[in-house]
Amino acid sequence: MSYVLVVSEVRKNLFEERNLDSIGLSALLGREAVLLVPEGAQGVNESLVDKILKVRAGDDLFSNPLNLVDILESVFGALGKPDFIVFTHSASGTEAAAYAAGNFSFPIITDVSGFDKEAGTFSKSYYSDKIFGGFRPVPAGTCVLTVRSGSFKDNASEKASAATTSTMDAPPAHEGRTFLEYVEEERAAVDITKAEFLVSVGRGIGSKDEVPKYEELAKAVRGVLSCSRPVVDKLWLPKERQVSTSGKTVKPKVYLAMGISGAFQHIAGMKDADCIIAVNKDPEAPIFQYAHFGIVGDVHKLRDKLIEMAKGS
Ligand SMILES: Cc1cc2nc3c(=O)[nH]c(=O)nc-3n(C[C@H](O)[C@H](O)[C@H](O)COP(=O)(O)OP(=O)(O)OC[C@H]3O[C@@H](n4cnc5c(N)ncnc54)[C@H](O)[C@@H]3O)c2cc1C
Repeated sequence: MSYVLVVSEVRKNLFEERNLDSIGLSALLGREAVLLVPEGAQGVNESLVDKILKVRAGDDLFSNPLNLVDILESVFGALGKPDFIVFTHSASGTEAAAYAAGNFSFPIITDVSGFDKEAGTFSKSYYSDKIFGGFRPVPAGTCVLTVRSGSFKDNASEKASAATTSTMDAPPAHEGRTFLEYVEEERAAVDITKAEFLVSVGRGIGSKDEVPKYEELAKAVRGVLSCSRPVVDKLWLPKERQVSTSGKTVKPKVYLAMGISGAFQHIAGMKDADCIIAVNKDPEAPIFQYAHFGIVGDVHKLRDKLIEMAKGS
């Protein structure tokens, strides 16, 4: 049987939204789509795939990749090996995918964000979307894929008939690694992803002593203070304020970049802001290539002027 096996990610018994990207990609591959899901999972839309294979296992198939490898072995025994096994490109999804690929010696393509049906190539990005590479799996055998969140969910569409469902027992669990509990991340005091106006500070502000003045500016323009990574590394501001690759992706109406050079790791997380205004003393700073408005000058002088203007209005 020629099929795609979608290994679902489930947390606290809830089917994760990001599985829709795996299902969406499977729909483009022109084969039967079989969804592997823990038996108790809630929120599974059963009309998006051809077959659902429920496993009597814990709620998270990824929590111990050794157990998952045994489950896959059982699936292969029942259905044969699939042409593709699709995982989410999450922290746990990539770990499980790597275990599966390593264990069965399957090739793997990670962080897939595009598929060219005609050429049969999967694409993935490098250097924060600066360049893309195309990969074609070897024609025979099984290929493991991990899918970037948000890339294919629009391709997940209802099938003409509901999926057939079967249930299988999970093989005995491996010892040595046991799921204990979910630990919730502490809620951040501010959410920079929700702000419409971000005043973002970089290393160019010079020192931690300057931060309160930029907070004052953010308040004066009814905005929120965010920053580049060095500002977090130097402990001038907490991590929750960091924009980009290893921070948060933001899309405010206005992004005022103060003393930020415009390294691609930073740009990747703010380039889609509606209006980017950059202030930098270096006219060659890369940030100016992305800014709608650029001001070459000293950040502190401009900051003080803006506070004065905002308070005066
Ligand atoms: C794996 C990895 C992940 C990373 N993730 C991130 C990330 O998520 N977010 C991020 O931001 N970075 C990230 N980085 C770091 C990134 O490469 C840059 O080093 C960083 O963005 C630079 O921060 P900056 O612009 O504040 O500092 P700098 O590059 O040092 O720039 C400071 C700028 O301030 C200007 N300046 C100095 N004084 C003044 C003044 N008085 N008036 C006006 N302008 C002035 C300078 O001309 C300069 O352009 C990552 C790096 C790696 C390797």
